[in-house]
Amino acid sequence: MVEVVAAVNEWWKKAAGMTDLIAWLRAQIGEQLTKARAAEEVLDGNWYSPDLSEWALRHLGRAEGDHIAANPPCDVIARCEVELLLLDEHAAAADPYSPTGFVCKTCNDGGLPVEPACSPCRTVRLLAYGYRHRPGWREEWRP
Ligand SMILES: [Zn+2]
Repeated sequence: MVEVVAAVNEWWKKAAGMTDLIAWLRAQIGEQLTKARAAEEVLDGNWYSPDLSEWALRHLGRAEGDHIAANPPCDVIARCEVELLLLDEHAAAADPYSPTGFVCKTCNDGGLPVEPACSPCRTVRLLAYGYRHRPGWREEWRP
């Protein structure tokens, strides 16, 4: 009986951890999106300008300035929107037979939940891996 309780507790812990990954990832994307939209509103589409380039060269350096110029808010917004669509596409559905307690609605073919079909699926984990340098990342989420 003790082993069964321990196994159930472990299962719930793992399921909760995986649910945390999706919530954490949505929060990271949402934060990025909010900041990019605020910047886009202020800049009104004028991201790369000679003034910005001059400022970057004076205060940063060529590489940093080029990097800033290559990452306008409109691109960040577009990437964040696509990432949120991918999360919706790979949303979780409860499944008591899945090791994580959930299956991916897109990756699960209706058969037994095996690793690629468990939620968060590999697609979601890869997406999250792109945010691994942010606070809250857990190595157990690594794809
Ligand atoms: Zn999936």
